[in-house]
Amino acid sequence: MKVSILTVGDELLTGHVVNTNTAFIGETLHYMGADVKRMVSVGDDEQEIKNEVAYLLQAQKSDVVIVTGGLGPTHDDVTKNAVASLLKRALIENNEAMERCRLFFEKRGKPMPEINRSQGMVIEGCKVLQNELGTALGMFIENVFNCQIVILLPGVPSEMRELLTKQVQPLLRPLVKAAVQESILMTSGAGESLLAEQIGNPSSFLGEKTKLAFLPNTSSGVKLRITTIDRECVGNIDLVKQENERVKNILLSKIKSFVYSESDQIQLENVVGQLLMERRLKLAVAESCTGGLVSNRLTNVAGSSNYFIHGSVIYSNEAKQRLGVKSETLDAFGAVSEEVAIELAKCIRHTNACDVGVGITGIAGPGGGSEKKPVGLVWIAVAFGGALKSSSLKEKYDAKEMEKVRVDLEIPNEEK
Ligand code: ATP
Ligand code: MG
Repeated sequence: MKVSILTVGDELLTGHVVNTNTAFIGETLHYMGADVKRMVSVGDDEQEIKNEVAYLLQAQKSDVVIVTGGLGPTHDDVTKNAVASLLKRALIENNEAMERCRLFFEKRGKPMPEINRSQGMVIEGCKVLQNELGTALGMFIENVFNCQIVILLPGVPSEMRELLTKQVQPLLRPLVKAAVQESILMTSGAGESLLAEQIGNPSSFLGEKTKLAFLPNTSSGVKLRITTIDRECVGNIDLVKQENERVKNILLSKIKSFVYSESDQIQLENVVGQLLMERRLKLAVAESCTGGLVSNRLTNVAGSSNYFIHGSVIYSNEAKQRLGVKSETLDAFGAVSEEVAIELAKCIRHTNACDVGVGITGIAGPGGGSEKKPVGLVWIAVAFGGALKSSSLKEKYDAKEMEKVRVDLEIPNEEK
């Protein structure tokens, strides 16, 4: 089923309102197995709306066109007129809708403004989608041109969502043949390019029905989304699930050490907290360039007091020395160095008498970088058991270097 989405409103074009309706409808329809082909926005202009709906139905051959916005009672709400005119159908009064509209105002102790009479008018032959949250009605219009469907929904996002999920989805579901299965791999410690290198050529194992998307995010790492869609599926969703699982397992075999979760609802700090709790380990953090960010993320997790002992922002060289970093180390290697990160980790662990110490020092920028120490260079050290692990993260690194980082950060078995 080919679907197009048309959102109407001057405020969308000027950027005064963020177009959340498009994203919500796109995602909802995608997971139903519909093929979302186009998303378009036009202003509150009757001719523009008419032209666009005509284009989506006739030139683009959409099976379903969903339009949101412009259904209200004000002069700029012209969607109904535009579509009625295109389909050459009349606007007729809907008694139930008119009565609901009157009651809507009565409940609020107000008479219905005359302008709202237009709210009770619907396009001839449509299925009316009653709106419990507002006065603008939705419409489900079948048998348009070549057995196509046009759906009109209110612009207000909460009303649109209610109508889409409660009334439109049940009407469309029997018409969609496809089945969709998706899985997620959340990764940390590798950029897109290193992951891509590890994975190799995806077309060798993806198959025709599965797509792989790399979605990098600065705070949560690179998310891999594996989507399997069978557009001709006649009921056997299990096959689609199996296929998706097969691809996920191949990916896991290639990049397992970078994967911290199979759900994007679970954050990296939750996973770290869980591991510390299971091993009954306590942690302290000394951070310089991150300014408390790491401690903040760790302590945002409910129950973090079970394992988080202390977090300090150790910014100046004097503060680093007060914590115990040797002045000779600072002089010899500079504040942003592997040696200082290691000393920060050791000192913060020692002063807090805990199991794990983390030291972070880096060049946050925008100034202060040099050729040897570019902006974005960050040294992270972990003191744990008898072991010291350190790694550098740079904005630009090569795959080999990152591989070393990964190995460095692995905690040897005997120390777990
Ligand atoms: P109403 O009865 O409120 O007039 P309507 O169907 O005419 O309903 P609009 O007037 O187009 O809807 O929009 C109502 C409000 O909903 C707008 O002020 C805007 O804030 C919000 N809105 C409209 N379209 C979108 C959209 N695509 N994404 C997010 N918000 C939207
Ligand atoms: Mg309006």
